[in-house]
Amino acid sequence: MICPYCKKEAEWCSNEKIYGRKYGKSYMCYYCKPCDAYVGCHNNTKHALGIMANKELRKLRMECHKLFDKWWQGKSSRRCCYDWLQWKMSLSPQQAHIGMFDKEKCLKLLEILKEEQLTNK
Ligand SMILES: [Zn+2]
Repeated sequence: MICPYCKKEAEWCSNEKIYGRKYGKSYMCYYCKPCDAYVGCHNNTKHALGIMANKELRKLRMECHKLFDKWWQGKSSRRCCYDWLQWKMSLSPQQAHIGMFDKEKCLKLLEILKEEQLTNK
């Protein structure tokens, strides 16, 4: 995995290096320390889940998660809300994970959620 920011090879390591402890079931990731960019891997293999994200993108994803969580908590099930998300953004089931979103998708979701909040009070 090449870091998209500095174009150097990223280290394949446990996310302990980032969070200080192993986080999640699949904790292996690619990490570029100088750029503070990383991406998780599928089931601890060397198969990356998407593109590496730097601080800006991670912040956007976090914002998405926060708004999305707030939004689905009033609804019947989280699963339903992911289906909705998938439909609303025309994603495949594999793509309907905020953790895999790039900057554009994050911004789009934030827009959609903010709209939802305005219309469903
Ligand atoms: Zn880098």
